[in-house]
Amino acid sequence: MAIAPPPVKDLDWSPERAETLATRAVGLWKEFLHKLPTLPVSRRWRDIRVASHLELAIPDEPTSEGALVDHLRKIMFDGSIYPGSPRFMAFITGAGTVPGAVADLLAAALNQNVGVWRLAPAATEIEQFLGRWFAKAFGLPPSAGGLVVTGGAMANFVALKAARDAKAGWNIRDAGVRDRPQLAMYASEEAHHVIERAADMLGLGATAVRKIAVDGGGRMRIELLEAAIADDRARGVRPIAVVATAGTVAIGAIDPMPEIAAICQREQLWFHVDGAYGALATLAPELAPLFAGMEQADSIAFDPHKWLYTPHSGGFVLVRDLQHLANAFSLKPTYVREDKELTGNGLDTSMLGPQFSRGFAALKIWVSLLAHGRAAYARRISHDVALARYLDACVRERPELESMCEVTLSIACFRYVPPDLGELPDRDTYLDKLNEVLMAEIQMDGRAFCSNAVLGPRYVLRACIVNFRTEAPDIDILLDTVIELGAKLDRTMRPRT
Ligand SMILES: *Cc1c(COP(=O)(O)O)cnc(C)c1O
Repeated sequence: MAIAPPPVKDLDWSPERAETLATRAVGLWKEFLHKLPTLPVSRRWRDIRVASHLELAIPDEPTSEGALVDHLRKIMFDGSIYPGSPRFMAFITGAGTVPGAVADLLAAALNQNVGVWRLAPAATEIEQFLGRWFAKAFGLPPSAGGLVVTGGAMANFVALKAARDAKAGWNIRDAGVRDRPQLAMYASEEAHHVIERAADMLGLGATAVRKIAVDGGGRMRIELLEAAIADDRARGVRPIAVVATAGTVAIGAIDPMPEIAAICQREQLWFHVDGAYGALATLAPELAPLFAGMEQADSIAFDPHKWLYTPHSGGFVLVRDLQHLANAFSLKPTYVREDKELTGNGLDTSMLGPQFSRGFAALKIWVSLLAHGRAAYARRISHDVALARYLDACVRERPELESMCEVTLSIACFRYVPPDLGELPDRDTYLDKLNEVLMAEIQMDGRAFCSNAVLGPRYVLRACIVNFRTEAPDIDILLDTVIELGAKLDRTMRPRT
């Protein structure tokens, strides 16, 4: 007779025990939300020795709930920086919506595998709905749709894979690129570096991306794009796609999309928009006109974890015709074969992108939109832009600061210039060095947190507001901190004459 093995219940928590831990975790979260406005945004990590402080070792025996919460407390309060702090204005990092965090807990609790419809019915429908909803908001036709991916890097990769497969002119998925015409793509020199990495991952090589020079406003120069395409064609290279950036990382510049769309139309090229940062600004009616031409895109990459402020990570890729994702990613695995006529089940998203098993990242995006409504998003996105303009106006009023770019979206660039600097030899070189050290000092200081850009040769400080907690007084604190620390550094760094 078969002997039944006895139950092993260590990992199976009772609902009451689940609630006890979750309640304590929620208590930590509430404490965190209370403290967030006053916590230092970052710390001098060198002095904290994060790895040893956290006690990372894994025990053989269970850890009590109390001890678990102590571990979590350290991660919350002793080992993390706070993109949700009102004074975090660095990179392009959203603050993290509150309902999005709750949705993530329930998404994990449900543990859907969103690669196969029958393993995740509601999850798949939510994700596909979002694809159509964003597509409509951006002006794409009803055939459009897309996928949640990990972020902008993956969204651009997936879109450019679809572009490569649609435009190569042979069955490149099966045959690869060997002994075939060289393929080329075009992006501005201010495009994000992940575009080149996408070309690398697609087997085309990073140099397949031709870097087109920009004008004084950081926008792709159209006549140089046309020349580069003509030059490639003359040399027997096959152009396949143009990448327009809708919101560059450095200054938020938007490439001339109507002109690029027209060139793509004429040259039969795939028109991709990297809107990882900027595209969601179309939700704000007064910003939408900046994105004219985007509605003609064959694909759009954008990041809910940036300007929809949802918790990391969640990017989105849209294609004008969802069929293009199927063309680029479908497989025929036997073990997920089913009779869809019989079941009536919907689309399997594992056939539309590079991942097979997929998480329910769409939930925090949908719940955030649901909780706040579209109008609140429009107001807050506009407000972020207004705050960047306020920052730039303050910079122009303060004699110690110099504005370094025009504000298009929610990025402002500036630098600290000691008022008594005068005509130093190598003045700009000194200011580059001073501002570079200053940026690191600001980030370690913790009162406020900005990052940098390099504009031409110039090293500048850069604030980017994709943060629904930031208000004007936070910007004042950032600028006060810049001036205080800048003056201090200048006293030690200025070459004596
Ligand atoms: C942020 C960004 C990326 C990269 O996106 P991730 O979400 O960091 O992967 C690509 N392009 C642009 C324009 C970006 O702003």
